[in-house]
Amino acid sequence: MISVTGARKTYGDFVALDGVSLDIPAGSLTALLGPSGSGKSTLLRAIAGLEGLDHGRVGIGGTDVTGIPPQKRGIGFVFQHYAAFKHMTVRDNVAFGLTIRKRPKAEIARKVDDLLEIVGLDGFQHRYPAQLSGGQRQRMALARALAVDPEVLLLDEPFGALDAKVRADLRQWLRRLHDEVHVTTVLVTHDQEEALEVADRIAVLNKGAIEQVGDPVSLYDRPANDFVMSFLGSVA
Ligand code: ADP
Ligand code: MG
Repeated sequence: MISVTGARKTYGDFVALDGVSLDIPAGSLTALLGPSGSGKSTLLRAIAGLEGLDHGRVGIGGTDVTGIPPQKRGIGFVFQHYAAFKHMTVRDNVAFGLTIRKRPKAEIARKVDDLLEIVGLDGFQHRYPAQLSGGQRQRMALARALAVDPEVLLLDEPFGALDAKVRADLRQWLRRLHDEVHVTTVLVTHDQEEALEVADRIAVLNKGAIEQVGDPVSLYDRPANDFVMSFLGSVA
């Protein structure tokens, strides 16, 4: 579904991505896991088209999208610090992508109702973002990203700013959402526990390169090298 081939990205002398190749299967929930500065966000932003590559290619759904702008890549994106439209209600925030596409009102209403129910925010549609908790706001962000039926959902540390208890709840909740919606999802996280618990597949990054890719159990039981072993071994 997503294929990255030979992705290289430098900032001056610094090599952020050092020839990364990765295939992400359709319908999977794949985690990009690694320590801070390992290139996770750069890789995700390259998939999204928010970051150009020095070398390499990105394919989505069998189409080479290298050089194609983000809005034409069929992706939804959720960041750690979510920028909601503060003056808009939850409903209008979620509807936004559909509204600007001039979809029929009845279709928008139906879709937004469905999404708010899926993310557990039915009953909150007339609130403003400031009236939501951090966790509710991230769920609104997910509903907004999903509203336009993206082929791919990209999440960059979406729960990173929240406290541990809320993060653990949202993890479970993301897993259930994915089981329901099946959208190909890539989750960037530096949290081993989060990746092991939520993802079907994990790509472990270190210094701009992929150390190992596999399902959580195989990674945990058979780490490919010392880095993966010590990084996964540091689960609290
Ligand atoms: P991660 O998400 O794994 O923490 P990033 O992909 O954000 O890592 O960054 C990888 C490295 O690239 C970091 O060391 C970061 O300082 C550097 N980097 C990222 N973006 C820029 C930029 N715009 N200019 C210079 N260096 C950058
Ligand atoms: Mg990052």
